[in-house]
Amino acid sequence: EEKEPLNFIEHIIEDDLKENYTVNDLHFRFPPEPNGYLHIGHASSICLNFGLGLRYNAPVNLRFDDTNPAKEEQEFVDAIKKDISWLGYTWANECYASDYFQQLYDWAVQFIKEGKAYVDSQSSEAIAEQKGTPNKPGVESPFRNRSVDENLELFEQMKNGDVEEGAHVLRAKIDMTSSNMLMRDPVMYRVLHKHHHRTGTDWKIFPMYDWTHGESDYIEQVSHSFCTLEFLPHRELYDWFLDQVHEKDKLRPKQREFARRNLSHTVVSKRKLAKLVEEGIVTGWDDPRMPTISGLRRRGYTADAIRNFADSIGVGKRENLIDVTHLEYNIREDLNKKASRVMAVLDPLKVVITNYPEGKEEWLDAENNPGDEAAGSRKVPFSREIYIEKEDFREEANRKFFRLKLDGEVRLKNAYIIKAEKAIKDENGNIVEVHCTYDTDSQSGSGTEASLRKVKGTLHWVSVAHALPVEVRLYDRLFTDAAPDAHKDKDFMEFVNTNSLEVVTGYAEPSLKELEVEDTVQFQRIGYFTVDRDSTAARMVFNRTVALRDSWAK
Ligand code: ATP
Ligand code: MG
Ligand code: MG
Repeated sequence: EEKEPLNFIEHIIEDDLKENYTVNDLHFRFPPEPNGYLHIGHASSICLNFGLGLRYNAPVNLRFDDTNPAKEEQEFVDAIKKDISWLGYTWANECYASDYFQQLYDWAVQFIKEGKAYVDSQSSEAIAEQKGTPNKPGVESPFRNRSVDENLELFEQMKNGDVEEGAHVLRAKIDMTSSNMLMRDPVMYRVLHKHHHRTGTDWKIFPMYDWTHGESDYIEQVSHSFCTLEFLPHRELYDWFLDQVHEKDKLRPKQREFARRNLSHTVVSKRKLAKLVEEGIVTGWDDPRMPTISGLRRRGYTADAIRNFADSIGVGKRENLIDVTHLEYNIREDLNKKASRVMAVLDPLKVVITNYPEGKEEWLDAENNPGDEAAGSRKVPFSREIYIEKEDFREEANRKFFRLKLDGEVRLKNAYIIKAEKAIKDENGNIVEVHCTYDTDSQSGSGTEASLRKVKGTLHWVSVAHALPVEVRLYDRLFTDAAPDAHKDKDFMEFVNTNSLEVVTGYAEPSLKELEVEDTVQFQRIGYFTVDRDSTAARMVFNRTVALRDSWAK
C-alpha cells in the first residue's frame, strides 16, 4: 500500500522507531475540551492523529479534556463524537480526564508529602504579581514553606468544599527563578463549587490543564501527544510533572508541537465562535456559515472534502492563514464527482413559447451526471411556459453574450432550441415576459438534423406549471476581513459581514421533491445546493454549499 512522503511529525515517529520504540508502543489521542463544537482547525488535528493511527495501525483515544466545569457540557461531548464519526474516524477508547480525578488527587497528595507541592492562600492577583517577568525572578509565596501536615489538612478542606472558591490553590513547588515562567510554581488545583457534567458535585477541586494533560497521556500510555505550537513552552512542565510519577517499566509520553491552522474570513476558536452564537450573529453552532464541522456538514460539505482539505494543507511548524477558496476548491472537486445535476431558476423570467401547444406537456430525458453514467437519468417536464434566469435574457447584446437575445437562439438544456421574438414590458419598462418560438425538430438527443444544430448558448430552465418553489439560502463570507482576529486595535466582531445571508425563492424541477435532508445536488450553471433540515413537506429549503466557479455555458 502506498504511503505519502513523510511530514515532520512522521519523521519524529520514524526516528523513535529506530531507537527505543516499537510499533506496538505507538498510541495517539485527540483531546478536545467539550466547551464548544469542533471547527475546521480541529479537523487538522483529527486528521493528523487518526491518520497516524491508520498509518501505524495504532490506537487513537478520544480524550475529553473536561477539567473546567464552568464551560463544559454534555451537548458538546455528543456533538464532538458525532463529528469525528462523521469524518470517518473510529477511536480506540472514549476517555475523560475527569475519570482520572482520583488518581490525579492521589498523586497530588504524594507531591505534598514529598515536599513538591504546597497550598497557597494568596489571592490570584497576588500570585500573579509575584510571578515576575522573564528577566526578573519571581518572589516566593509566604506560604511556600508550609509544613506537610498543614498542607495536607488544607488540601483536604479544599477537596471537601469546606473553603470558598479562590481561598486557596495547590501549587507545584518547582522554581520561582526559572527562565520559563510556567515553571514558577504553577497552580495544580483550584476550588470550584460548580456542577461538572460528569462528576456532578463530587469534586470541589479541579486540576489545571498542565497538571492534567500529561498525566492523562501517561495513564492512557499515549506515546506521542501532539498539540499546537502555543504549548511549546509548556513542554518543560509537561515533562517535569511526568518525571515525578513515571515508573520505569512504563512508557513516558512525549509532547510534540505542530502549527495551528487558520482559515481566512472566519475565526477558528471555540470561544469566538461561541460569541457569534450568543450574540445571535448566527443561528447556532451548526449555522451553515460557521466554520464548525457541523456547520460545514449542514452547508453541504462532505467528509471526504474536509479530509482532503486537511491532508492537502498538511502539518507544519509555522502558523499560516489558509485561504477559504482552498476549502471551497476541495468541496467543488468532490461534489463535481458526486452531485446530480438538476435545474432550478433563482431569479425567474417567464418565457412563453408561442408555437408550443397550450395544455401540452412532455417529460424529457435528462442525464443526472455527465461524468458518471451509473448516475442514470430522470425525466423533466417541459411545457409552453418556462422560467429562465433574468440575467440570461437581454434585448440587445454583443457577440460575446451567449445567452438569449431578441432574434437570437439558445438551446434549453435537455429540450429544444428557442428563438426570442418579443420582450413584454410593464409600465416602468421592466421586462416581465419574453415570447419565443421553438424549433419543433430540435429536441436534444433525438438525432434529427435540427437537434444537432450548433447554437452558442445553453440555458437551464424550469416549466412554470410544474415548478417547485423552494427557499434558497445564499451565503457569503461571515467576515469582511481575511483575518478578523489578527487586528491589534480592533475586535474581530467589528468585521462581521452583515450581508452574509440572502434568502430567495427559487423554482426547481419537480424531481427535487425526492431529496432528503443533507442531500446535495448541482443546480446547473449556478452551484451546489444542499437540503437543509429546516425543510418541511410544504417548503423545501436549500443551502448554497458553494457556487460553481466555471459554468458550462456562460
Ligand atoms: P479553541 O481555541 O478553538 O478552543 P483549543 O485548542 O483550545 O481550540 P481543544 O478542544 O483544546 O481546543 O483542542 C483539541 C485539539 O485540537 C488540540 O490538540 C488542539 O491543539 C487542536 N486544535 C485546535 N485548534 C486547532 C487549529 N486551528 N489547528 C490545528 N489544531 C487545532
Ligand atoms: Mg482549549
Ligand atoms: Mg482555546
